[in-house]
Amino acid sequence: MYPFNQFEFDYIVVGGGSSGATLASRLSENTALSVCLIEAGGKDKHPLIHIPFGISLLTRLRYINWHYNTTPQSELDNRSLFWPRGRTLGGSSSINAMCYIRGATEDYDHWQALGAEGWGWQDVLPYFRKSEHFEHGADEFHGSDGPLSVNDLRYTNPLSRAFVEAAGHVGEKVLKDFNRQDRTGLGFYQVTQRGGQRCSSAKAYLKPARKRKNLTIMTDCHVEKVLIKSTEGANSSAHGIQVSHQGMSYTLNARREVILSAGAINSPQLLMLSGIGPKAHLEQVGVEVKKDLPGVGQNLQDHLDAIVQHRCKVREGYAVALSALPKYAIASVNYLFRRMGIFSSNIAEAGGFVKSQHANGIPDLQYHFLPAILEDHGRQIVMGYGFGLHVCCLYPKSRGEIKLRSKYAADHPHIDPKYLTHPDDVKVMIDGVRKARDILNCPTFRRYQSKEFYPGTDIQSDDDILAFIRKKAETIYHPIGTCKMGADSDPMAVVDNKLKVRGVDNLRVVDASVMPTLVGGNTNAPSIMIAERAAEFVLQDYASGRGA
Ligand SMILES: Cc1cc2nc3c(=O)[nH]c(=O)nc-3n(C[C@H](O)[C@H](O)[C@H](O)COP(=O)(O)OP(=O)(O)OC[C@H]3O[C@@H](n4cnc5c(N)ncnc54)[C@H](O)[C@@H]3O)c2cc1C
Repeated sequence: MYPFNQFEFDYIVVGGGSSGATLASRLSENTALSVCLIEAGGKDKHPLIHIPFGISLLTRLRYINWHYNTTPQSELDNRSLFWPRGRTLGGSSSINAMCYIRGATEDYDHWQALGAEGWGWQDVLPYFRKSEHFEHGADEFHGSDGPLSVNDLRYTNPLSRAFVEAAGHVGEKVLKDFNRQDRTGLGFYQVTQRGGQRCSSAKAYLKPARKRKNLTIMTDCHVEKVLIKSTEGANSSAHGIQVSHQGMSYTLNARREVILSAGAINSPQLLMLSGIGPKAHLEQVGVEVKKDLPGVGQNLQDHLDAIVQHRCKVREGYAVALSALPKYAIASVNYLFRRMGIFSSNIAEAGGFVKSQHANGIPDLQYHFLPAILEDHGRQIVMGYGFGLHVCCLYPKSRGEIKLRSKYAADHPHIDPKYLTHPDDVKVMIDGVRKARDILNCPTFRRYQSKEFYPGTDIQSDDDILAFIRKKAETIYHPIGTCKMGADSDPMAVVDNKLKVRGVDNLRVVDASVMPTLVGGNTNAPSIMIAERAAEFVLQDYASGRGA
């Protein structure tokens, strides 16, 4: 039990995930400030979080996961898709696949062109570098003094190597580093790991900061809403939060700012629960309107993922099979004593970026190769040996939304990504499946004597491939955009380029929800970069005596 009534802080950061942990750590480097980080989940104690191979079982641990489900998706045979999100210190960086990818330089220049002034590639690169401790040392693209360890994998499976070697057969390059200018090709991913263990934002940023006297980290505290004061003739302003802990509600006051870092689902949910959002919707669910902001919860984007899967006769890869047990026994000893071997693998070891026939200059497809058979995000056990190539459409044009189900914070919001509602996304996905197939049929895989079972060799026409996608595609876990950053002239922009909520003082949003459009890649590194930048904005305002 925390002594809530005695607490008051300069800054309250809501959500201890990729962005929130980074932000709270950076703010509390200034010892003159008091900072409180509030996390709905518990401490990141479970060993499966820290052992990279543990990712194969993480979706089964209910208590570190929000276990969201989307609304039925009309273009995916009316299926509700499972959306795991981290609910523990480190947030989704404690349950993710650890692939370290920033996206294309063009992605950030595109943000700027859309109205996110000051967020072009040259503006954001210093913050990627600032966050990073790159194993191979600093250079123009990488940093070596930051808290986030970025390493090569300590172990790669022969099947993943066969995937990378296939590049030459399909006219692609082999790349050593996807985080440079040229990233078209196949290769192994760099991973957020340190010493063979996961390096989440909690490990990178909170561990070194947690003994600071000016940083309070509160876990198992579910924030229910931001407290907003309305003053006649002036902007409303945030002055604290309402939080539930062990079944009781408390309030906490913020002297300077409340900062939402609750992720692309929960940040817009919290804004709406606090009366900030589309007026008609708030009235419909019975929330008192404090600020009509039509963009809150809109502009939801995500990477949809289809898997081409093979079964193989040769016993290679990470199988669920009795015959694999001796291998796992040796691997556990190897990991226990040396932090090496199979258990240091993130499973999604290799991948790449390629152009579909519809691409506009830069790769619009991303691959993740898994030397294992995967069904239902690992929640379903599939016996036997095999491998699969995940393909996703990097720049979907479909736009979805998050809406409140009720005015109660405990109720999961409606999550409707509206996958494939734009016809161009369909075309890119179909071409992506064809290209993935070509790779898995390369001679480099021949020695494993494999056979495709998804989509299945009889599935050849565009219509049949689309039917397969509708039946089987899932998320690859990159929701963004629901509190998008944009120019004053954009009525759908929720935050400005300093991440301040429009029309509400002392309130910012700092997480994946502020991205105006998806980056061409995974979203952990960009979420951390956003928080690194935000920390500077907040500290500059503090130094100049300005509020949010
Ligand atoms: C299974 C999975 C695999 C992924 N793989 C990769 C990968 O390999 N590489 C990559 O770059 N990206 C990956 N991602 C995506 C990446 O991890 C996320 O984009 C990133 O973590 C988002 O950061 P965030 O700070 O916006 O949100 P999060 O990290 O999700 O943090 C939000 C935090 O807020 C807390 N919170 C929410 N609501 C409340 C509330 N009301 N009160 C208090 N606390 C609250 C949550 O519990 C959570 O800790 C993956 C994601 C998942 C789920």
